[in-house]
Amino acid sequence: MNSSQFQCSPQLRERLLEAASEAGACAAGFARTHQIPQYETQRLQDWLEKGRHGGMAYMERYGDIRQNPDLLLPGARSVLCVAFAYTDKHLPRSPLFADYALGDDYHEVLRERLGTIARIMETEIPGTATRICVDSAPVRERYWAVEAGLGFTGINNMLIIPGTGSKVFLAEIFWTADTTPSQPCAQDACCGCMACVRACPGGALDGCGSMDSRRCLSYLTIEHRGALPDDLELDGRRIYGCDVCQDVCPYNKNITAKVIPEFQPRQSLLQLRRDDVSSMTQEQFSTLFRRSAVKRLKLAGLLRNAGKQLQ
Ligand code: SF4
Ligand code: SF4
Repeated sequence: MNSSQFQCSPQLRERLLEAASEAGACAAGFARTHQIPQYETQRLQDWLEKGRHGGMAYMERYGDIRQNPDLLLPGARSVLCVAFAYTDKHLPRSPLFADYALGDDYHEVLRERLGTIARIMETEIPGTATRICVDSAPVRERYWAVEAGLGFTGINNMLIIPGTGSKVFLAEIFWTADTTPSQPCAQDACCGCMACVRACPGGALDGCGSMDSRRCLSYLTIEHRGALPDDLELDGRRIYGCDVCQDVCPYNKNITAKVIPEFQPRQSLLQLRRDDVSSMTQEQFSTLFRRSAVKRLKLAGLLRNAGKQLQ
């Protein structure tokens, strides 16, 4: 791509990385934007052709934008990738909900927090534009996070950050200024122990870094609409999300990470038991899951997962 008329100075670059840390990010880095390489695009295409995205039809759309950040933000030259941890070894966990769902909805929280950084970018280099993405646009998030030096991708299909693990939310700020990219992560692949593949309750991981959403309990309990497959056994498992392939991963053992207040587990969710969910009213659901990612599933979806139908 052509270089931009706007150039971020080393001092401003440093200030932006500091701002990301002050906003609560456990890792941040810059990458230069470019077209996603053909082999990466082909990998996604193969995955889609095998139907491994299940009912996530939106994955089939906007392939051109997914491949080319310039279509997302005209004139995009760099991207600031950030990761925010949502758990560490000291925080309590729930038998019903995946760790990421115990705090506030990260889509709302991160957009607000990254807004401060985007404003610095646009103010310090007038004439530049930014676009914040928090799982809100067709963006290859893990690809850009690796490009920005945050970590590497594991066989479990997650971005793994050395010292922090994979239990992080990813977000990006695309920018029309050129910025010196961050150093690549010293490690480019996980150790390949295959613990995630062996432990996966749905047999969703193929051991080569790909996964079949149709066999993934996280997809089935969160994204999938309609009845759950007959052979899906949720007894003793979470009714929202799964976490198994992350829990067994050695890179998630003994992690200590900065978890911002909004992502701390809510007591009200930690106390919830399966029976409480089965008898939940719409009013209780709305109160409990206000500003929570779970509200997107709606009460009917949660009851479905808990083995009940909405009356
Ligand atoms: S989230 Fe659960 S079901 Fe999905 S790939 Fe990981 S271990 Fe398997
Ligand atoms: S459990 Fe092992 S194979 Fe799976 S992602 Fe972690 S290190 Fe890689």
